[in-house]
Amino acid sequence: MTRDTADPSYTLPPLGNNPSTEAQGTSPGAFANPPAIGTPLTFSSPDTPGMPPPSDKTAWDFLPRGWSRNPADNRESKIESATTQLELARCGVITPQMASVATREPHLTAAQIRDEVAAGRMIIPANKVHLKYKLQPMCIGRAALTKVNANMGASPVSSSIDEELEKLRWAERWGADTVMDLSTGGDLDACRTAIIQNSTVPIGTVPIYSMIVGRNIEDLTYDIILREIEKQAKQGVDYFTIHAGVLREHLPLVRKRLIGIVSRGGSLLAKWMLYHNRQNPMYELFDDICDIMREYDVSFSLGDGLRPGGLADATDEAQLRELQTLAELTERAWAKGCQVMVEGPGHVPFDQIEYNMKLQRRLCHGAPFYVLGPLVTDIFPGYDHITSCIGATAAAYHGAAMLCYVTPKEHLGLPKKDDVKQGCIAYKIAAHAADVALGIPGSRDRDDELTKARAALNWQKHFDLSFDPDLARAYHDEDLEVDTDFCAMCGHDWCSVRISKEISDFYSGKAPEAQPAKKALKSPGVSEEGAEALKQRGVLTQEQIQKLAHKGKKAACHSDNVPDPEKAKLVQVRTLKAHGVTVSEGGL
Ligand code: SF4
Repeated sequence: MTRDTADPSYTLPPLGNNPSTEAQGTSPGAFANPPAIGTPLTFSSPDTPGMPPPSDKTAWDFLPRGWSRNPADNRESKIESATTQLELARCGVITPQMASVATREPHLTAAQIRDEVAAGRMIIPANKVHLKYKLQPMCIGRAALTKVNANMGASPVSSSIDEELEKLRWAERWGADTVMDLSTGGDLDACRTAIIQNSTVPIGTVPIYSMIVGRNIEDLTYDIILREIEKQAKQGVDYFTIHAGVLREHLPLVRKRLIGIVSRGGSLLAKWMLYHNRQNPMYELFDDICDIMREYDVSFSLGDGLRPGGLADATDEAQLRELQTLAELTERAWAKGCQVMVEGPGHVPFDQIEYNMKLQRRLCHGAPFYVLGPLVTDIFPGYDHITSCIGATAAAYHGAAMLCYVTPKEHLGLPKKDDVKQGCIAYKIAAHAADVALGIPGSRDRDDELTKARAALNWQKHFDLSFDPDLARAYHDEDLEVDTDFCAMCGHDWCSVRISKEISDFYSGKAPEAQPAKKALKSPGVSEEGAEALKQRGVLTQEQIQKLAHKGKKAACHSDNVPDPEKAKLVQVRTLKAHGVTVSEGGL
């Protein structure tokens, strides 16, 4: 019995209609839920049995006293005093920032963005002070494209302001949507000011880091906390990580863990609580912190001080109890008019990621989830940009709105410029893979264009459409400096793409707009960045290259060298069979 005659005991999903591409459709159809923009199921994955369902509440259920669920009423009575994007959305206003965001999210209208912000499912982190510099407003929310954050910052042992500014430019160059300045050394104020004034992307900080410079954590007072938060808000920081969710009563739950508390902010505050035998001061001061953040429209990134630091500690009681507190704080911040996203783990086995995302969606009523990784294994230090971007893809597919990158230096040292690039690229891959899988309209169009160029063996177009054209060109030219109808990987005679393009019944590679100008073109050459990338590599010998590529000469047995067209077809059939393609001779 052949495969074709076997009785299939499965049902394929409906063909086509994947909205991630407007041009092509897909086969099989999308597995994600229909888009449902404006609901908690906006761009969502189907629930595995046992997952918590979405909340039936939104930020509209947590209004400040005197506000109405009717935007028109708020517009009449509250518009004068509204300061945040959330408050303005509650007044029914489309702000210039919402309109600007809509141009970056072509699948959403400005009105939809306003409505998502009003529902609390989206934030626009845009401090009013930063807007006076170079900030280009963006949004974070599951209705939007998945965003990537890059962390940077000087440490007491490494880096300078110039180096940090260079890393900022580098992170922007490689697609970071926001940048967190996590500096703990050097002149923190000067570094932060320089970063804010030079960045086009929103800047986040963890204010507690600056609070303890030059003092012990035990000496932290309420006054120091509020003064530092106000200072950074005035400087123009767009979002603050505030670890207000780790409570004194959660600390005993950490004892069972393999690696305790791995969040810097979480561990510092735990030490303060144990020393003073008092509640977390960030929790106690939460309403005052909201008042400062509202004034400048600084968004909350509610910190996960008890995130797991290893697979063994994932989804434990400490983590989940803190998440419940973060949900309570989300509601309180909304009731103060503040924009909120919530931070999440960390290190999580692959099978637990969906549950983590969907539990947050339920408890925090759809507030954007901003996750670090998560790493899905612990035994690859030096490769944690990879271990974590696997988890990040799953996290975004199951509901996370922003992914905090992890670099190869994670757990090992302060990331340098190239580590920032590696981290950004790993996370752009994760975010983009999730957007395609979720069916965000248009997100697959560039993939399809690149596939057409690849099928047409149009190398320059292939590189122009790729995320890192310099590297792609360098790797190609390392072995073959001619753009022609094969590359050095398989060589001319074994190039299945070329063979497919030649077979008249196949559509492959025939898109007219994807064709190269000529069948063979000398490479325009490798860029400086590409040459640098090649320097890091061992290079093939000329002999190996010639063997692989046949220097453009076709072997005697190649179908092009068989004069009789019928016999040439037989050669093609044999070649296809050798590549695992089932095709009958009559089918050619
Ligand atoms: S030679 Fe191999 S890798 Fe290169 S284009 Fe052809 S099939 Fe692809």
